[in-house]
Amino acid sequence: MTSLEFSYSEQLTLLRQHIETSDAIVVGAASGMSAAAGFRHYYEHDADFVENLGAFEKKYGYHNSFDGFYYRYRTGEEHWAYLAKNLCMILDAPTGRPYYDLRDILNGKNYYILTTNQDTQFTRVFPEHKISAIQGDWRYFQCSRRCHDELYDSVETLHRLKDAITPDLTIPTNMIPRCPKCGAEFEPWVRGRTFLEGKKYREEYEKLNAFLGANKEKKILFLELGVGRMTPMFIQEPFWNLTYSLPQAFYIMVNPKDALLPKQLKNKGLAIREDIAKVMADLRKRVCGEAQ
Ligand SMILES: [Zn+2]
Repeated sequence: MTSLEFSYSEQLTLLRQHIETSDAIVVGAASGMSAAAGFRHYYEHDADFVENLGAFEKKYGYHNSFDGFYYRYRTGEEHWAYLAKNLCMILDAPTGRPYYDLRDILNGKNYYILTTNQDTQFTRVFPEHKISAIQGDWRYFQCSRRCHDELYDSVETLHRLKDAITPDLTIPTNMIPRCPKCGAEFEPWVRGRTFLEGKKYREEYEKLNAFLGANKEKKILFLELGVGRMTPMFIQEPFWNLTYSLPQAFYIMVNPKDALLPKQLKNKGLAIREDIAKVMADLRKRVCGEAQ
């Protein structure tokens, strides 16, 4: 029986049963979770982009923040003006509703969260020791030359830079954030060609592996939220492999477009093809009752 043969209501019932009867829950969330929360400026020309980055669009011609991030700026001053404005928008954004719903759904349960998101939304509502951000986190800088293994807080610096952006969209040269050891420019600690996979990165995996180690023989649910088909190797494939190999594991994915269940998991999995914000809201009502 494939899960798509169930009605949405039946799928929700199954999801609720697994949430409530599992001894451990590992949530794996990716960009679809934040898109469901309304953060679409990464790939879309939406109101957030226009309001915050419209001046950059006029100067450079790109139409979403992802293209702005990869644009080849002529100078470091221009590049940092964009980074500061874009990242402050992300760091200062309100917390999305689906994150609150998920918090309420998992309240009191034995859970862990694995995410490729860098936007810090999970850290607003879940404790850091229950989150592994395996693709980096905008709140940190690293040396762009990786000359040493240390991360630096970025939040205050980014806000100072944002406030110093000139009308022609640059920042003063002496404000470009630099590595205290070698003088190279800092860069945000996020997955890229020079991503620093050092102590902090290893700790993220150690936290996750400790949770898996303590719970793998129990009835464990792998709940995948909004993982696209571009990078299945970070969450989806490990979830599939773990579900397949662990005796009491079950896998549930929620995805509005890429909801597919591998044949090998047809008796150990469920694919819900539905908007994540809707599923989180409906599930929260079933788990917690109607009251806010
Ligand atoms: Zn350095």
